[in-house]
Amino acid sequence: MLEDIQEVLLSSEQLSARIREMGRQISADYAGKEILMIGVLRGAVIFMADLARAIDVPVALDFMAVSSYGASTTSSGVVRILKDLDEDVEGKHLLIVEDIIDSGLTLNYLLDNLRSRKPASIKICTLLNKPERRKVDVQVDYNGFTIPDHFVVGYGLDYAEKYRNLPFIGILKPEAYKN
Ligand code: 5GP
Ligand code: MG
Ligand code: MG
Repeated sequence: MLEDIQEVLLSSEQLSARIREMGRQISADYAGKEILMIGVLRGAVIFMADLARAIDVPVALDFMAVSSYGASTTSSGVVRILKDLDEDVEGKHLLIVEDIIDSGLTLNYLLDNLRSRKPASIKICTLLNKPERRKVDVQVDYNGFTIPDHFVVGYGLDYAEKYRNLPFIGILKPEAYKN
């Protein structure tokens, strides 16, 4: 697994320091409120688990799965709900938790979909942001790191379901795509 990594972009120390900061910021912004964190499966799971523990206001967790790239590394633009939320979100403060915003197409779709369910508020929190590849404008409320246009894996992010368990964010060697 490690032999497929060209470069470590963000170490596990950098990730945890930034996530602690994000948790403090989110806790301050939501003081006196409860948050319903909506994790976008599966890439956001590891980030969400760490972020939730860095927040000290009450947090509930729910998950959605949407169709994404499959084994390809570029967006098809087609978004489909594979697993919907278990909770009714009306009147709740939603915090969408994403691993990475690339084209923005997934999030744009999710936002429209969730807004129609009449929550009290919706904010977006992403660990990584690749603004160079944006196709639709999305307002990001909490951004962990802005990164250049490389295909990255680790800390929840996969290529063909591999590498999610790496404790850092790394750039995959181009030859690893062919396996
Ligand atoms: P978007 O709809 O913004 O183009 O892409 C959203 C999803 O595509 C992310 O949640 C993630 O699952 C996947 N994705 C985008 N860029 C990358 C990347 O560099 N590495 C990995 N592993 N997945 C990515
Ligand atoms: Mg995602
Ligand atoms: Mg993926």
